[in-house]
Amino acid sequence: MELTLNEIMNRIRKFRDDRDWMQFHDPKNMAISIVIEASELLEQFQWKNEKEVVDHTISNLEDIKDEIADIALYLFELSDNIGINILEAIDNKMRKNNIKYPVEKAKGNAKKYNKL
Ligand SMILES: [Mg+2]
Repeated sequence: MELTLNEIMNRIRKFRDDRDWMQFHDPKNMAISIVIEASELLEQFQWKNEKEVVDHTISNLEDIKDEIADIALYLFELSDNIGINILEAIDNKMRKNNIKYPVEKAKGNAKKYNKL
C-alpha cells in the first residue's frame, strides 16, 4: 500500500472532523498526546533486558506498530494544524543533521554533535 502525504492528511482530517474533535486539538494538547503515545511505545520495553527487548519486539510487532502509528498520527496532525509540511520539515532537518554530524566525525560513535 502506497499512501501519499496528501491522502494521509485527508484521512486524518476527516477522522477528526467527523467527530468534531478539532476543538480539543490545540498545539499543546497535540504535543502532550505525542509524548503520551511515545510513552506507550516505551512501556513496551519497560523492565526488559537487552535480550527480552529483542524477543518482545519480534512477538509484539503489531502492538509496537500501533504505538508508532499513534505517535505519527498526532505528529502529522499537529504539523498540519500549524501549517508545517512534515516532509519538508524532515528534509530540512536531515540537511541540518548532515552538517551537524559529518560522516568523518560521527561514523561509528554515538556522541552528540557538540562533543564530536
Ligand atoms: Mg497508543
